[in-house]
Amino acid sequence: MSNLDMRPAPTVCGGRQDVTARPVRELLAAKQVPLGESTLVRRLLPNLGRRMVGAWCFIDHYGPDDIAQEPGMQVPPHPHMGLQTVSWLHDGEVLHRDSVGSLQTVRPGELGLMTSGRAIAHSEESPREHARLLHGAQLWVALPDGDRHIAPMWEHHAELPRVTGGGLRATVVLGELDGAASPGTTFTPLMGADIALAAGTDTRLPVRPDFEYAALTMSGEAEVDGVRLAPGSLLYLGCGRAGLPLRADVDSAFMLLGGEPFEEKIVMWWNFIGRSHDEISQAREDWTSGSRFGEVHGYGGSPLPAPELPPVPLKPRGRTR
Ligand code: MN
Repeated sequence: MSNLDMRPAPTVCGGRQDVTARPVRELLAAKQVPLGESTLVRRLLPNLGRRMVGAWCFIDHYGPDDIAQEPGMQVPPHPHMGLQTVSWLHDGEVLHRDSVGSLQTVRPGELGLMTSGRAIAHSEESPREHARLLHGAQLWVALPDGDRHIAPMWEHHAELPRVTGGGLRATVVLGELDGAASPGTTFTPLMGADIALAAGTDTRLPVRPDFEYAALTMSGEAEVDGVRLAPGSLLYLGCGRAGLPLRADVDSAFMLLGGEPFEEKIVMWWNFIGRSHDEISQAREDWTSGSRFGEVHGYGGSPLPAPELPPVPLKPRGRTR
């Protein structure tokens, strides 16, 4: 998905001083962002209260929306740099096209993982024939400096490992959970899992004390470490836990996202992640002039134009929380 803010704010994030070393329970409110004409997405990250969780740097939750009489998701070709995108669905399907020639329908429970490296462009759309409901999350992972210039690639993993027991059923989207590892390529120590809790669940999930974590509720009312979460809210949990208490009175699902705190300072603007104003500005120029990012074939519409850069130079600075 693209950041469709008409005036996207530059965001400087990363760095150890933002990380809470001990366990915390910070409930972060969503910002409503229009996506196209009829859809609202809830942006949980970056958030006024927090900008990263491990290398996770962008979280949008959308739906469930009834799109039976609508075109649904229609995100025209747009560029990415310096990050990975994770497409994750609970309902519906998304047709992905990109400039390395991929054409793939992503369905619920399947991982669509795009590594932009130095440059890629893609489009995402609901197929013409689509399910009534569309519900999912779009997540970005920042690439570390040593890997952010690699060649772009697309991965689709229809089969993902599961962890089950005590009313809990977890699908490991990225990284590892309780010994089960996702086949998705990662570049920093991180994890992402979709966790379904049956009504009446009262359990404890083993997690890593050196990772920071956050929980994004998808449906129901999962209770994470004693905090009951409505759908579309994000609970930041900090580091320093070996186990995470989970309860549910009704069938619930949430995403657990975690990782080793991301040490580098990054600059995020629109769909790009770089390390300086000049890099971001060059990427914008390259997208506008039609170079570097390649072409997306088969999408029935024009590529997204880049917004104007803000007049103030983007630069990593000071404490960012
Ligand atoms: Mn995108």
